[in-house]
Amino acid sequence: MAFTKKLDLSAKIFIAMILGAVTGLILNIAGLPEWSQLWLTDGIFRVVGQIFISLLKMLVVPLVFISLVCGSSSLSDPKMLGRVGGKTIVLYLFTTAIAVTLALGSAIIFKPGVGVHAVATVTAQIAEAKPFTQVIIDMVPTNPVAAMADGQMLPIILFAVLLGISITLSKEVGVRVSNWFHDMNAIIMKLVTLVMEVAPYGVFSLIAILAATSSVADIMALGKYVGLVFAVLAIHALIVYPTILSVIGRLNPLIFLSKIRAAMLFAFTTASSNATIPVTLETVEKKVGVSNKIASFTVPLGATINMDGTAIMQGIATGFIAQFYGIDLSMSQYLMVVVMVILASIGTAGVPGVGLVVLAGVLDQVGLPAEGIALILGVDRLLDMTRTVVNITGDSMVTTIVAKSEGELDMDVFNNPRAGLAFEEKGSIS
Ligand code: ASP
Repeated sequence: MAFTKKLDLSAKIFIAMILGAVTGLILNIAGLPEWSQLWLTDGIFRVVGQIFISLLKMLVVPLVFISLVCGSSSLSDPKMLGRVGGKTIVLYLFTTAIAVTLALGSAIIFKPGVGVHAVATVTAQIAEAKPFTQVIIDMVPTNPVAAMADGQMLPIILFAVLLGISITLSKEVGVRVSNWFHDMNAIIMKLVTLVMEVAPYGVFSLIAILAATSSVADIMALGKYVGLVFAVLAIHALIVYPTILSVIGRLNPLIFLSKIRAAMLFAFTTASSNATIPVTLETVEKKVGVSNKIASFTVPLGATINMDGTAIMQGIATGFIAQFYGIDLSMSQYLMVVVMVILASIGTAGVPGVGLVVLAGVLDQVGLPAEGIALILGVDRLLDMTRTVVNITGDSMVTTIVAKSEGELDMDVFNNPRAGLAFEEKGSIS
């Protein structure tokens, strides 16, 4: 007990992951006996894992809304919002463009779809992605309560920002309401720390299910595709982001990466940028040193519009499917893929598996068979988890650069390796 008390949250989660993976692999090797399916993977692990994800999701809408009202109501200069929004969106789109270009380039060079024998017999049931014009229209909520009930991030962001600005413009009345929101924000952050307490159990269960039910045969058959997606994700997270962070942000990328590791682990286990928002927000504010003003806006926005990891999977999958069917794509079709992937990422929420939905639309646009998705469905969960790590790393990186450029990054916190640890060790925010 004394030993586990000393460990920080990311260490506890990491240990839970390893134990979950070992447990799951043992079950997998044993052929997932019926009792283990009944009592474990469909039983206790499923209950604990799903409750953990529900707890995280439960926090997202109140946290984003309250935190963003706080952030935008404490803007002394309303022009700052436009500036921050502009920089953030440009950086998000820029990194996504690099991601999809890298992915397509590597698919063209390494040809993961050549010589593959289909193992999947599943037929993909993929919903249609929304047209881009509708995405823009839907940003404005006709009913903010309905948007909150459905967890639609962009309309919630817009409403919260407008409310925050109105609070500032309302002078004394606004000050009272703003104080209330700040108090609520502290309370909801406390709730985040309470939920973190159960994280290791949730992580253990989710990873055990994954390891127990993954088909090694599927992964081996698509080894080149899986390997290439992993490799490009790693290049993006460990070379592209650090380069951008040091060149544009003039910050040490090693410090940055080590600080956000807890959020990365959460993203991996939940495969959802949205469900990870509470942890990402907490991490960039308390450990990296970004002010609430910036983070409350850029993090939820990033969870929705910035999906570099997803773009990487989509780029490689497009090349893979074209090669599998022996269809040659022209340069203009490749360019079309780049544009489609960037635009499509804007309107899609960061939830598990959504990348495949968007991919169906992309394939359709360039005249590739959408059924090709069935080929990669079997290995998508593992890739989904990994690309979500890249997605939230991108959100946190852009958040940090924008904060630095606005003078909203506390360098003492950034450079302090122990910053934010009090929150993990004692379960309270200091
Ligand atoms: N799961 C990813 C995310 O939440 C989206 C995807 O690639 O499907 O960021």
